[in-house]
Amino acid sequence: MTEKKKKEQQLKEQKSKEQGNISIHTENIFPIIKKWLYSEKEIFLRELVSNAVDAIHKLQHVNLIEGLQIADEYRVDVSVDKDNKTLTIKDNGIGMTADEIRRYINQIAFSSAEEFVQKFKDLDDKSQIIGHFGLGFYSSFMVAKKVEIRSLSYQADASGAHWSCDGSTSYELAEIDIDARGTEITLFLDDDEMEFLEAPRVREVLTRYCNFLPIAIHLEGEVVNDQNPLWTRMATELSDDDYKDFYRKLYPFSEDPLFWIHLNIDFPFNLKGILYFPKLTNEFDVTKSHIKLFCNQVFVSDNCAELIPEFLTPLQGCLDAPDLPLNVSRSYLQNDPQVRKIRDVITSRVAGKLIDLDKQDRKAFSAIWSDIHTFVKFGMMRDDKFYEKLKDQMLFSVSGSDEWTTLPEYLENSSAAKATTVYYTNDEVAQATYLKLFKAQGIDVLVFDAQIDSHFMQFLEMKNSEVKFARVDADVTENLIQQDASSELVDGEDGKTRDERIAELFKQYLQDEELELRVERLKDDSVSAMALFSEQDRRFQEMTRTLGKEISIPDKGPTLLINANSSVVQNILDLHAKQKNDDVELLVAQVFDLAMLTCRAFNQEQMSRFLDRSNQLLARINAENVDKN
Ligand code: ADP
Repeated sequence: MTEKKKKEQQLKEQKSKEQGNISIHTENIFPIIKKWLYSEKEIFLRELVSNAVDAIHKLQHVNLIEGLQIADEYRVDVSVDKDNKTLTIKDNGIGMTADEIRRYINQIAFSSAEEFVQKFKDLDDKSQIIGHFGLGFYSSFMVAKKVEIRSLSYQADASGAHWSCDGSTSYELAEIDIDARGTEITLFLDDDEMEFLEAPRVREVLTRYCNFLPIAIHLEGEVVNDQNPLWTRMATELSDDDYKDFYRKLYPFSEDPLFWIHLNIDFPFNLKGILYFPKLTNEFDVTKSHIKLFCNQVFVSDNCAELIPEFLTPLQGCLDAPDLPLNVSRSYLQNDPQVRKIRDVITSRVAGKLIDLDKQDRKAFSAIWSDIHTFVKFGMMRDDKFYEKLKDQMLFSVSGSDEWTTLPEYLENSSAAKATTVYYTNDEVAQATYLKLFKAQGIDVLVFDAQIDSHFMQFLEMKNSEVKFARVDADVTENLIQQDASSELVDGEDGKTRDERIAELFKQYLQDEELELRVERLKDDSVSAMALFSEQDRRFQEMTRTLGKEISIPDKGPTLLINANSSVVQNILDLHAKQKNDDVELLVAQVFDLAMLTCRAFNQEQMSRFLDRSNQLLARINAENVDKN
């Protein structure tokens, strides 16, 4: 600028200069802004850059409507000047005339600031609102002692305007010459806000809040933002790698996500976003929200638990919900009908995705099932629509195989004509004997060993009254028992059947009045006896145990099922006939202990008796071998 021009400029500024007081009833807004917004000062940059982007959008809009043929490269420039201790945000958007500054900055902004103060006063949890309520332009006073606006409106013949305010309630406004259309906001930083003169710090804040803004933001000769984040693009033009790359950008150093959903909804409300279900690790906090909330690509918050159903809290990713009221309290948001609709959409889309995954590739789906099943089951118990959608898609692992099945498939494949019982194990090691019996008869047993499973099973029974779940040791199914009449045959002079004699013998030697005995012929003769625990009794006991010790109902013991087909049991009968009572006593006790071993922990005395007896039996085998030699 030449000397002459400078003089002219000063003269013009002098002549046009107006001084005024910002109309505001609160005696001074700035101390309030500084004090209340202290914790998240950096949001001033978000507000100013968003205003700059808005100004460009407005220009694009009038350009379109009025056919102005402006073919600029739209951009926002953020720059720092360490000598003058200023931070500047410049855009080539619509600009403002002096009159517009008067209207939009002096009046409107202050009245909305006042409204903010009023609302803020009534709010219980003040921390909730900070960052959600755009205080807009005036948030710059959180870090600046003086702010200047230089703006040239897009309108033909407009003159440039210069506004300046030092944080008191008075301002100065004057006409000046400006060459380029647009607005430049200069912040003269407070002495203790010098961090915002450091480009890396400014970049950090821009990356946090402005990373996905749709207009290029330049800082030190580089564009810092991604203007077309994935959620603004069509799912059909994106590959799995695009989604995974975007995930890594959002959450560096994380493992690949298990699955994702791409939301692109225009009606009846606007909602875009990409949600990812992460691979869960020990460090991952499943109790806190991980979604980043945006409003037209401006970052708003990364704590928006109310938008996601509770059972899907692990979901990560971005939601862009431009219609959402952001300036209200959390408890309000929780009950907002639109927020509820958003939750419903997410729930339904997640269910749809799971169904697709299962249909596409059961094997791949079963691989992620162990990470997600708890959330899916919890969700089904919480949300009836979710249950209805997924009830036939739930996967269950088949014990002793790497197969997975669904409930309808299991019941359909069952050998029984109209199967209603689902056999399950919750401990494949402890219940190995039973599993072997089921396997030998070709009956599939499902694994229900997760913490949530016992509740989930009861929930499924409640939902399907004809389906019953029975643990493998709950009862012996008809399929395991040899169906013939020989057990009914009277055998011997005493008029008793063989089974009755077996039962009597065990009763006599075990000397346990309470013990319930049952003699059956199992198809598998390698098992001598089993402990059976009625499903109902066991569940009842488990329930009273979880309710606490106050309720002490004596535990009902298991039923001892003796396999009349076992050679050991036959041996016992033979030894009894030969009156070898010591041997009978030894064997009966051992058969009993072996059966009990699978269903209850031995105390010290029981264990030591079991070991002693086992050693005695081994010693006998040795002695027999020596005799023969
Ligand atoms: P809000 O953006 O919520 O309306 P602000 O206090 O941030 O509130 O801004 C008030 C008004 O000032 C804006 O609505 C806009 O009309 C005007 N304004 C602010 N910044 C700019 C800018 N960079 N370019 C053009 N107009 C602007």
